[in-house]
Amino acid sequence: MNEDIDAINQEIGSVWFRVYPSQYGKGCSAKTRIPCGQIVHSCRPLSSTIYAPYRKEVCFACFNYEGGKSLKHRLGKKQFVYFCSESCLNSFQSQQGQEQYVQFLLDLEAHYVKSLKKYQEREFSADKNASDESRVEWERIEQWEKKVDQMKPSERLRSLPDIGETEYNEIKYVYGVLHQLAYGNSKEMHLLKYLQSNDDDKISKYPELLYVYNSIYKYIKLSTHGKLPSIVTTDYIRFIIGVSLCNSFGIWLESDVNDVDKELFGFSLCPSASFFNHSCSPNVKKKRIGSEFVYTAVEDIEPDSDLYISYGNFGDEDLKTRQSILSEWFFHCGCTKCAKETQS
Ligand SMILES: [Zn+2]
Ligand SMILES: [Zn+2]
Repeated sequence: MNEDIDAINQEIGSVWFRVYPSQYGKGCSAKTRIPCGQIVHSCRPLSSTIYAPYRKEVCFACFNYEGGKSLKHRLGKKQFVYFCSESCLNSFQSQQGQEQYVQFLLDLEAHYVKSLKKYQEREFSADKNASDESRVEWERIEQWEKKVDQMKPSERLRSLPDIGETEYNEIKYVYGVLHQLAYGNSKEMHLLKYLQSNDDDKISKYPELLYVYNSIYKYIKLSTHGKLPSIVTTDYIRFIIGVSLCNSFGIWLESDVNDVDKELFGFSLCPSASFFNHSCSPNVKKKRIGSEFVYTAVEDIEPDSDLYISYGNFGDEDLKTRQSILSEWFFHCGCTKCAKETQS
């Protein structure tokens, strides 16, 4: 544990805060006095996903949004990946290994468009096995997996499961992580392994998700066959999905108005920022500038005090509403604001 903490701090290399083992797992505390207005951290996502309805309107590289217009710059012939500018497109294209990544993304677009209708019309039989444990279902998948190597390419193509929006969104994020693991060498990538992953809690709350995750795994296994062999295992894909459940942050329309109805374009994962704990009255605020997330102290913070951000996009919701939103992260907020409102 302490070795992990040392490695994490070395990787983050912050002059302002250190990661330490806290009551919530890990937390961040101030190394020194931090003045109000000081930027304490900034990062770019290891991977992100733009939700299906926004994929033509939000730049894949910088999350720029032009009021709902379809973006003009794109990659692909029939299906596209969209960018806001020539320079976003070029910077994306210049990344190592991007040809394979682009092909995965374009094939995903094509398959999503093709299978969505069938997916929506399918007889949903979630409760047929709802009592099965997740473990049993994953064992079944491991049995299935043994057959994939023997399949002909055409058979693998035919075996791709139909996917809906949830699967599409998650597969796009997983591809991004896999691409980084194969070709990247960033700080964010090195920090990924220290994050908490939890799909079991989510699945006990929403049993139908087990089937969603199984489809995602099957799709990724079939579509990356022979291309990313060693990293596509059930344990690892479950880890990547589980990490996003506990650690991802929404990509909101960035505006100065603190509007709870503002649009949510997708989600992103920045491992280096995942160690900040939550408070409903945070002393650090997160702001997105393009694809960069910037964390700024909003009050003077004394040495050894904890740094807190807000996980949600909160306005002035009451205690009950906040707690119910936060429970999606499987977490009961014990911040000073919640403690005070619980008493009164
Ligand atoms: Zn852009
Ligand atoms: Zn709270």
